[in-house]
Formats: sequence, C-alpha cells, structure tokens
Amino acid sequence: MKLKTIALLVCILLMITSYAGIAPGNKTLSDGNTVPHAGETNSLIVLKAGDASTVASLLVAKGFDVLENSIQDHAVQVIVTPTELYYLQHQGFEITSITPGRPFRDIQYEQTSENPTFIPPGYSDYTEIINQMNTTASTYPALCQVYDLTTTYGVPPTYEGRHLYAMKISDNVQQDEDEPTFLIVSCHHAREIVTPVIALYAITQLTTLYGNNPEITAAVDGNEIWITPVWNPDGYEYMYNYDNWWRKNRHPYSPGIGVDLNRNYPFGWDSSGGGSPDPTDETYRGPFPASEAETQTMIAFSTDQHFTKVIDYHSSGREVLYGYCALTHPFSNFLRSEAISLSTASGYGGLARIPSADGENYEMQLAINGSYANLIETHTSFQPTYASAQTEAALVWPGILWMFQRPISLIGHIRNAITEEPLVVSIKLQEITFPNGEYFMSEPQYGRYHLFLPPGTYTLNLSLDGYYPKLQQVTVTQTSAQVLEIMMQPINTAPDTPIVNGPTKGISGESYNYTFMSSDPDGNNVFYYIDWGDGTNTSWIGPYLSGEIVTTSHSWINEDRYPIKTKAKDIIDAESGWSEPFHVEIIQLETTILLGLIRNRIESGEFITFNASRLLMLPSSQLVHTSGEIIISQNYTFGFIGQKVIIGVFKAAVLSETTGFYHQPS
Ligand SMILES: [Zn+2]
Repeated sequence: MKLKTIALLVCILLMITSYAGIAPGNKTLSDGNTVPHAGETNSLIVLKAGDASTVASLLVAKGFDVLENSIQDHAVQVIVTPTELYYLQHQGFEITSITPGRPFRDIQYEQTSENPTFIPPGYSDYTEIINQMNTTASTYPALCQVYDLTTTYGVPPTYEGRHLYAMKISDNVQQDEDEPTFLIVSCHHAREIVTPVIALYAITQLTTLYGNNPEITAAVDGNEIWITPVWNPDGYEYMYNYDNWWRKNRHPYSPGIGVDLNRNYPFGWDSSGGGSPDPTDETYRGPFPASEAETQTMIAFSTDQHFTKVIDYHSSGREVLYGYCALTHPFSNFLRSEAISLSTASGYGGLARIPSADGENYEMQLAINGSYANLIETHTSFQPTYASAQTEAALVWPGILWMFQRPISLIGHIRNAITEEPLVVSIKLQEITFPNGEYFMSEPQYGRYHLFLPPGTYTLNLSLDGYYPKLQQVTVTQTSAQVLEIMMQPINTAPDTPIVNGPTKGISGESYNYTFMSSDPDGNNVFYYIDWGDGTNTSWIGPYLSGEIVTTSHSWINEDRYPIKTKAKDIIDAESGWSEPFHVEIIQLETTILLGLIRNRIESGEFITFNASRLLMLPSSQLVHTSGEIIISQNYTFGFIGQKVIIGVFKAAVLSETTGFYHQPS
C-alpha cells in the first residue's frame, strides 16, 4: 500500500469516527413520526477514489451503505444520509454526482408519463400490494390464503403499526399439510422495489398456471409455499412517499432513524461481519438481536414453518449470495456450487458470492433451520421502470422453479418408537464440526426434518432428553432424495410393584373383587399379571392407564389360605417385581344347628353375617363360640333368625373368632 493511500485511509478513519453522533436535524410531525426537512433525504453519490475497492471496504466496515456492484477502478456509489454526505464533502472527498432522494411516487409518475402503456399498472404501494394478494386469494380460494402473520403469531406490529402478511399457496391450502415448506421473501430493504414485483410475479405464475403447467402443479401440490412481497412495510411506505433511497425500517434510535432489517437477525448479529452499531448508519443492526418487530415476526414464522427452502430477494447486482460473511460454514464449497447453479437457473450466469455482512435473514434460515437458503441480488438498479422490473421477474422465475426441483438430500420424520408421536430432535453430524454451534432440528407438528448435504457418508447423531441417543449412517449423493424415517426409543423405567386390595376372607365358590394399581414413572400404559394362589392366573391383562385402579374378580373352590401375587409391565415390556403375597382365607359353609344370642346382624345378598356370643354350633368341632363373626346362607334356613336370637338349621361357617373360643361346660 502506498504512503499516500495510507494517509488517505487514516484521514477517512478519523472523519468516519467523528461524524457519528450528530443528529441529522429531523423534524417531528404531530403524529410522532419523524421526517427529514426538504433536502434531508438520503442521497446516492458517486465518490471518486484512486483505490476504490479499498475505500469501499473501509466504508462498508464503518457502516456506510456502499453499493456492492458499483465499485469501479476509480469510483464507488454510496447511499448516504445528510449527515454522512456533509462529512464526506467536508473531508475533501471528490463527489462527482449527488442524486437526492425524493418520493418514489414522483419517479413512478414520470416513468409512466414517459411510457403511458404502463398506466395504470406500475409499482404498487403497500396497501395496493396487500389488496392484490387478497384479490388473488379470493380468485383462487382452493390454492391461496393470505395470512396476517402479526396476528397469527401474536407478535408486535411494526413501529408505525403495520402488520406483515404472507400469501400461502398449496393444494388444500386450508390445511397444514405434511409437506416441505418454501419461503420467498422480498423487500427487507425498502428501496429494493423490484423484489415485491418478483414476489407478486411468482404468486401469479403459481396460481394462473396451476393445473396447466406440470412443473408448477407439482410445486404447488408437493409444497407449502409462502410468499411475502414486502417485509419492511414502514420503510417501503416512506420510500414511496418521501425518500426513494430509504433502506431501513422507521424505528427511531437516537440519534438515527431505522434499523437495517437484514442485519437484525440473531445469527451472526455481533460477528465481525455484523451490521453497524451506530444508529445513524444505513446498516445499523439495531440495539440488540431481533430488536425489531419485523425480525421477531420472521423468527416466529420460521420456527413454526421450519422452512425447507428460502429465497430472500434483494437488489441490486444479479448474483446469488451463499453461506456466511465473517463466520465459517463447513459446507462452504458445496454452498458455493449450489449458489452457482441457482444463479445460472435465475439467469445470472452463475455469479455468486458470500454476503457482505452477517445477521441476515437467509443466514439464520441456513444456520437454525438447515434450510436451503440463499439471498438473490436482482436487477442492476434499485428502481428501474416497472416494465424492466417485470422482465427481471420473468428472468429469475426459472430459478424459483429450479429451487423447487432441487432434491432434498434427506427428508423424513422423527417419531417416538412406541407412541409414534412426532419429536423435535436435534440432529448433529458426527464427522462435521460447525464452528458456530449450528445443528439441525425436526419440526414439532409432524416431526419432519430435512438435510441438504454435500455428497458423502455421514453419521447422524440424534438426541433428545428422555430418549436413547441414536446414531444413523446415511450416504448422500448430489441427486439424493432419500426418505428416512427415524424412530427414537424412549428411555424406559419399569412400572412400580402393584398394590393389591380386596377382601381377606371369603366363601368358596363366591366371586370377590380385587383392585390392582401400579404407576409407571414414564407414564406409559401398564399390563397386570395376577397369580391367584390356587394354580390359576390371568396371564397379562391390559393395557391400562398408569395409576388407574383396575378391578378384577376371582372365586376359589376349596377351603384354604391363598396368596394373591401380582406384577406389572409397561408397553415396552419392562416388568416390575412381584408384589408381596396378599392372603385371602376361603372357607366352606356347612349344615349346622345354631342356637344362641347374636348382635350386629348384616344382610348382604345371599348371606347374613353377625357377631355371636354364647352360640351353640352342632356338629361343629367347637361346640360354643363366645364371640365371633358367623356367616349363614339365607337360601338354606330352617329356623328363626331374629335381631338378637338365632335357632334352627343353617348353612353356616365361622368367619373369625375375635377372642378365641372355649368349651362351655354343659
Ligand atoms: Zn437488500
């Protein structure tokens, strides 16, 4: 570098660091919005510099809005705020041309006056664009639906209170189908007005040619397509009505106005390639990541839709941007070759480059959702005639079709192996290091995932809390369109040992209800195995809900003491231990002569039970019971049973003897 150049750069540095912080002297309107005084709009300038590309990179690094495709040998174009212009002029830069911003509608008026065949169609303002979307949706109600994203996701409206809208296009558009999702988003930057024209052109192609053009029909049938023509409505309206060079949104951050919405995304926001921290700069990144309502809306939208493919249209430059700026992507060569193919398909001759900054929307889609995501710089100027914008839309349209047809290397679902419910699982590639910690995810509604990978063999490392980690090897080629369904096995604990409850005494041949209950720590359904202690069992019965009290009955034939034992297993066959034996004593009724005093008589069904004192039982082996619980059958009585006295012949048995017994001397 020559001494002269170094001196110049030092001079630029000093000047650039000193201009910041000067308020541009805006005036505030009664509605609280701020607009510049006449002559205080942004300007497009041509700046002469011996080493234009070095000066340009320095200006970019300092937050200046340098037009990437304008750098020539001795000149570069920059869009400057009044403050920036003032300082560049007073620091001795040779500025050969200044085009001040003015309402775009005036430019539009002049363009259409020059060529009246374009009247009335032309560039639309924001309201007209939304109206066009609504009109198309009502013309094609089976294919199109306009979504108010601000309302759908409960996110704040823009600074000036506008909502963001998206057109959804798909067969069965009213349903959320299990299909790859495709996003076309335009106009993050207000002045790039060719890009809404491209988005609206895509809507027209997809709707009017559906059913006639097989490629378009396949795209609409096989994808959930979302198109958002204007992502920066406040900036767009301001551009339309005040300053055609306006780029940012309109959110004031003293001493500047507006955030560069394509520098406000969290991924890479504060990398060395992130946007400017200075609110007066055209590439101001905002006070913190996702500070803007527009960014918050895109994050909510993307988290919900988990876009498979994304095109983010900008202008100008006719090239495709891929990968990251200052950050490293391990597949950067692959991303580059894909971008070249997309560029070729878009009519841009394979021109592709990495972005000039980080914190951009498509970088977030690539990093967070593993989307096939690119930014496409379109046209060679910001505001060509409307006819020229339409020609550009037709030029890039095959690029959209190409992207629809680009195979998804690997797609499928990740589900719970037992319940088959969809799972949000993190997917890492065992062999590949992502230096910024990116990883892939499946989406929540269907568990659908997608991966775009360079040809090779990979080990997917799948993990989710509560599930056994899983490794899955896959081989991908350039044209792979593999479908791989993945099941995750939940980490499983056996159910608790069941608790048994029921009568401890009974009569032979009678049926008694017993309850069984076991809880499964994983909440899985459970089965029970009951051993009745008499050589019979239920085998496995169920499934029942975890913790549900299950009732089942049994009768025993012979007089004996039986141990009931039970165990439980869950639906993944993990078994508990056996319960402690629950003993039931079964007795038989015998024909007996009864004579004595009774109390606490209870009738229940066929039987009467009572406590007896001084009871004579014949031919019982024990002649007299002083105190005990006796049961008799009502169906076999020859005698009298009152409230206090019993006398006669009955079918009876002793259920219990509370204080033992003794023989009464006769
Ligand atoms: Zn842009």
